[in-house]
Amino acid sequence: MFLWESIAFGPIHSRRLGSSLGINVSPTDVKICSFDCIYCECGWTLEKDYQSTHFLPAATILQAIEEKLKQCRQDNVPIDSITFSGNGEPTLHPDFLQIIDNLIIIRDHLYPNAVITCLTNATQLQKEEVRLALLKIENPMLKLDAGTDELLQIINRPTFPITLEEIVTEMKKFNGKMMIQTLFVRGEVDGVDFDNTAESNLSKWLEIIKLLNPKRVVLYSLDRETPAHHLTKIYKKELETIADKVRNFGIEAAVYE
Ligand code: SF4
Repeated sequence: MFLWESIAFGPIHSRRLGSSLGINVSPTDVKICSFDCIYCECGWTLEKDYQSTHFLPAATILQAIEEKLKQCRQDNVPIDSITFSGNGEPTLHPDFLQIIDNLIIIRDHLYPNAVITCLTNATQLQKEEVRLALLKIENPMLKLDAGTDELLQIINRPTFPITLEEIVTEMKKFNGKMMIQTLFVRGEVDGVDFDNTAESNLSKWLEIIKLLNPKRVVLYSLDRETPAHHLTKIYKKELETIADKVRNFGIEAAVYE
């Protein structure tokens, strides 16, 4: 498990995004998230009180990103995507909209061909400024790992009370102008067996996908060490079978093993 130690890192080669400059707006010494996913590469969510977290000021974050982009441009480093990921959930930053607004200006000036991507767990979409910010960028990638609330509570383990129904209600407000990212996994956690590729979950997940009609669905599985043990990676062949069901709706789907 690891934490990013800087605000702007990379660029790294991403299976999904090409040359991706990572942006971490969470603290660099602790993971801050409103989920506690069993597969999170940053480890378990130990700090659950994100309301009182001391996030870095937006100005400090923007200055670090601008300096990094200037350096990359000077070194002729290609960047396909400026990607919010890092040590937790980016939309928890209280000035997320301000960061996005200013980043768009910086990007247009320094790397006009790079897209802005945000990997988000979609738990903050009830905040209008978060939805607004995500709708301003090219690639809002909203997490949807479960088709039932029971499975969401097992896989994503929210750190505050929220249901799948509430999340999907907010996702609908994007009118399809987003991507959905889903990690498929099966295994056992705290004595409970689960499998989000099982028909009982998959049929409901597909119903939600059809309803949301996103621009693209990204399917993937485990890649790195996970905090929970007893998890099983789902391989490409099985992911492709699921992706075909999405494509049958006329929705683009991409598999990353
Ligand atoms: S939403 Fe992302 S950062 Fe948060 S626990 Fe899940 S995988 Fe980790």
